[in-house]
Amino acid sequence: MSDKQLKMKKIAVIGAGTMGNGIAHVFAQNGYQVHIIDISQEAIDSGIATITKNLDRMVAKEKITEQNKQETLANISTFTTINEGVQHTDLVVEAATENSDLKLKIFKELDAVCDAETILATNTSSISITKIAAATSRPEKVIGMHFMNPVPIMKLVEIIRGYSTSDEVTHTIMELSKKLQKVPVEVNDYPGFIANRILMPMLNEAIYALYEGVAGVYEIDTVMKLGMAHPMGPLQLADFIGLDVCLSILNVLYDGFGNPKYAPCPLLVNMVTAGKLGVKSREGFYDYAESRKAEKIAAQFSH
Ligand code: NAD
Repeated sequence: MSDKQLKMKKIAVIGAGTMGNGIAHVFAQNGYQVHIIDISQEAIDSGIATITKNLDRMVAKEKITEQNKQETLANISTFTTINEGVQHTDLVVEAATENSDLKLKIFKELDAVCDAETILATNTSSISITKIAAATSRPEKVIGMHFMNPVPIMKLVEIIRGYSTSDEVTHTIMELSKKLQKVPVEVNDYPGFIANRILMPMLNEAIYALYEGVAGVYEIDTVMKLGMAHPMGPLQLADFIGLDVCLSILNVLYDGFGNPKYAPCPLLVNMVTAGKLGVKSREGFYDYAESRKAEKIAAQFSH
């Protein structure tokens, strides 16, 4: 293990949303001092409330003790500006809103205010690591650390090497991920990396099957759940991820490879245009507002 890994103690997480609070939780639970930074105090309060609720659940299930919970919470401090929050941190994990201009702006600022040795990681689902790295003067220290939702539960971290990411930084982040009790997998920086490059065309194909009338929502999801042992059908999963997020990642694949096989299904485009975004808008392939149909179907088929 390199000196740098042994020394890594203080981590900044940018964004206290769905992913940011999960990432902060996992680092804090594994003994790191975590600085959560979000421009919104409301997002910080809600992030801390989520971490507390998730720790309470772990205590109730006897996975951790009440003392572990208190130690984890004591490892977390919060900030509303990047400049204050990143001081003397060994690593920054950026998990702010998925917007290319925003991330480039954040990384320019990080590069200016962080120590020269600080590694800058991003949890982006679809933006090029190489492009983000190019906004800094330290592209060899910029890397993708793609955690999966929900972070405290999902084992995988997709570690994405940008064009200039060094071997040393990649090794450090792979080893660090293991210390978080995760399984890191190293991949190169091409559109969608591996997870979304394979998942999104499958979801798109399920939407095409529906669009072409091959089968209904229930039938498509049931085939994949019971036939392929997927915990959730592809249409339900698309609803959970957010249909706008699926469309945006498919467009990244389509634009990045220039290959029509990634073209988003017109039904997906129409649904997003109509504001039917899945769970977050209470309606997607399932109607969450009235019947909570997806959950009922999931319950019916859960083993
Ligand atoms: P989210 O909308 O839940 O949270 C984003 C947070 O970023 C918000 O609290 C917002 O206030 C904050 N933010 C915006 N601008 C900021 C700034 N300048 N400085 C500090 N904070 C700022 O988003 P999310 O779902 O947690 O996604 C975060 C990142 O993780 C995205 O890049 C996304 O692609 C990636 N990701 C998401 C998932 C998922 O399932 N949600 C899975 C893997 C990766």
